[in-house]
Amino acid sequence: AVHVQDLHKCYGDLEVLRGIDLDVAPGEVVCLIGPSGSGKSTLLRCLNLLETPQRGTISVGGYTVTDPELDVDAMRRRVGMVFQQFNLFPHLSVLENCTVAQVKVLKRPAAEAKRVALANLERVGLNEKASQRPAQLSGGQQQRVAIARALSMDPELMLFDEPTSALDPETVGDVLAIMRGLAADGMTMLVVTHEMSFARDVADRVVFMDGGVVVEQGPARDVIGAPQHHRTRAFLSRVL
Ligand code: ATP
Ligand code: MG
Repeated sequence: AVHVQDLHKCYGDLEVLRGIDLDVAPGEVVCLIGPSGSGKSTLLRCLNLLETPQRGTISVGGYTVTDPELDVDAMRRRVGMVFQQFNLFPHLSVLENCTVAQVKVLKRPAAEAKRVALANLERVGLNEKASQRPAQLSGGQQQRVAIARALSMDPELMLFDEPTSALDPETVGDVLAIMRGLAADGMTMLVVTHEMSFARDVADRVVFMDGGVVVEQGPARDVIGAPQHHRTRAFLSRVL
């Protein structure tokens, strides 16, 4: 589903990604961990061309993202992204948040978009909030709407960038439970997270990044349970 080779990204003189190789197979759940500033968000943003890399190749869902001829909109339709800040449209209802891109981008008829949106809102346990505005919901509920909105586009890949970091502790579990459900249903997921118990339980593979490179990767029981590299050990000793 995702294939990244020798990816480099600079901001001016600062080289943030220094040769990243990363693969995510269809149906695989990969958790990306690492210290602040290690380049995790930049990597995710390169995958759907929110950032333009200087060097390397990226393919996502059959699209060569780094091809100058790429149909960017077509590629982005295949990739759902969920951010730390939910980025819901505040002036639209929960239901409208989940239908607007289906109608505008996928050209779905309104009735079908509504049916798909309600099915996904039910999946995240929020169908009875469909007519409310985002501001009337808790942070955890807003994040579940953001997930339902992304799912309504039928993505073949979901990218999550610290989806629970901005939430009150009591709502984190609800969002993680939704993500566990998605993983169990076979969704391909690349998840930047500081939730080590989620990574341990759900990830097929954990990737540890530091200083713009992948330092270590493997099954969670190895990378989190028995890290080989001293930088991985130092990071885990701070977060566990
Ligand atoms: P965190 O865990 O804090 O979210 P991260 O691993 O996601 O960190 P990035 O956000 O990818 O890290 O940032 C990596 C580096 O790139 C940091 O040094 C950051 O200051 C820098 N950076 C990120 N975006 C920009 C930008 N638009 N312009 C300049 N520098 C940037
Ligand atoms: Mg980040």
